[in-house]
Amino acid sequence: MKKPVVDQDSCTGCGLCPDIASNTFKLNDDGVAEVIDPQGDDEDTIQEAIDSCPVEAISWEE
Ligand code: SF4
Repeated sequence: MKKPVVDQDSCTGCGLCPDIASNTFKLNDDGVAEVIDPQGDDEDTIQEAIDSCPVEAISWEE
């Protein structure tokens, strides 16, 4: 199963990924994105969030 992972050292906390895939990502108390449910949204939606990240901080892990 593919899972999205966030490189929290790269994340700027822009908020785009939780906007796009709100069931998968959220901004945590430190203001960076974390995965709350790797299958929270369908794969296309998660891919859209990955593609939208301005610093390419999200990737798929097999
Ligand atoms: S889109 Fe990228 S930079 Fe923005 S909150 Fe998500 S992981 Fe962080």
